[in-house]
Amino acid sequence: MIIVMRMGAEAHEVGGVIQRIQGLGYRPHVSSGSERVIVGVIGNVRPLDPEDFLSLSGVEKVIPILQPYKLASRDFKPSDTVIRVNDALIGGDNVTFMAGPCSVESREQTFEVARQLRDMGVKIMRGGAFKPRTSPYSFQGMGEEGLQILADVRDQLGMSIITEVMAPDEVGLVARYADILQIGTRNMQNYRLLEEAGRQSKPVLLKRGMSSTIEELLLAAEYILAQGNTQVMLCERGIRTFEKATRSTFDINAIPVLKGLTHLPVIADPSHGTGRWDLVTPVSLAAVAAGADGIIIEVHSHPELAMSDGGQSLRPERCNVLIEDIRRVAQAIGRGLDVAHGAGVYAA
Ligand code: PEP
Ligand code: MN
Repeated sequence: MIIVMRMGAEAHEVGGVIQRIQGLGYRPHVSSGSERVIVGVIGNVRPLDPEDFLSLSGVEKVIPILQPYKLASRDFKPSDTVIRVNDALIGGDNVTFMAGPCSVESREQTFEVARQLRDMGVKIMRGGAFKPRTSPYSFQGMGEEGLQILADVRDQLGMSIITEVMAPDEVGLVARYADILQIGTRNMQNYRLLEEAGRQSKPVLLKRGMSSTIEELLLAAEYILAQGNTQVMLCERGIRTFEKATRSTFDINAIPVLKGLTHLPVIADPSHGTGRWDLVTPVSLAAVAAGADGIIIEVHSHPELAMSDGGQSLRPERCNVLIEDIRRVAQAIGRGLDVAHGAGVYAA
């Protein structure tokens, strides 16, 4: 339930609402907009009685929230959440473009592709230092050494860094190096990890579990939001179906469905969503046309040598063409692509 205060409601009236919520055993969540204050009630599993609040001084109206998630819902916050990451904006009118290798494999490999992407104007570089691999015998990532390489990319090339965190007790470590924390598909319902990410001041990109529903994704986001971190973006990265032609089935429906249900930015990952480099361009364009607030893809300077996910990684020259294709689709639907002007010029 959301309690909307009258315009110009006094602080003691807001205080009265907060006391009533706490008295019922729930938690208040106050958002002060430019015109009025709204107070959300967190923690009730059964519907509340609006009369409990309508009689309080300063209350204008009470809006029930029907969904099981609250802080993530559009009812709670109708306007799009826009997340600033250094010089990049995620959400709103912008289409964000994040790219980089699946894994940080070495300093040379990371800097080679980072320079190529920087020269294309890419502001946010991805790269995994802690890798969640299906087999324990596959490359597990470089760990903290990989994080240091990513931080050096940020410092030397001026790019922001998104990288995955896999364990609750590593969140603090990864947050010291990264600009955005990524929580992967296999960890979408690792609730202790979500809560720890919710206690950080860094934005979080939460990937949809490969067998999770849209509602489960929103409830997972709620775990992060409920700890106070409002900078959450959701990522459709493909789900498991009976189809074997692709590694995953990219759920294009999820994008407009999520955009309707939540104010949080929605990002598409067509690399994991298809598992095939030749499908990354068409599915990226489809995702932008469907309303995605951003794309995150895997790019490797030498995909044939990649230690993970080479088969779904674009070569830099194809990424460069994709950026221009995305720009045109974004323009066609009244949005702008957020890549840097005045970056170096990429030469294939
Ligand atoms: C990744 O981004 O490299 C990754 C492992 O993604 P996902 O969690 O979507 O499989
Ligand atoms: Mn990958």
